[in-house]
Amino acid sequence: MMFAKNIKMKKYKVDESICAGCGVCISACPQEAIEINNDGKAVINPEKCLGCGACLNVCNFEAIKEVKNK
Ligand code: SF4
Ligand code: SF4
Repeated sequence: MMFAKNIKMKKYKVDESICAGCGVCISACPQEAIEINNDGKAVINPEKCLGCGACLNVCNFEAIKEVKNK
């Protein structure tokens, strides 16, 4: 069995069907990686996101999910 050496940072995405657009996650993000889109839903910019998980922990709606890599 092989073990991958790279420690991949976790990635997160917002489930738009759950997101209430409250903006709490935006305040929590140290990277300013989250914006509210035209639909009033939070969107994580994967280019800026560090995968720290801060947004996940503050969202009261559990709208932010870890993206599982296969
Ligand atoms: S904290 Fe959760 S519900 Fe609020 S804007 Fe962010 S993802 Fe949406
Ligand atoms: S995981 Fe961290 S860096 Fe990425 S969007 Fe959430 S708070 Fe911002």
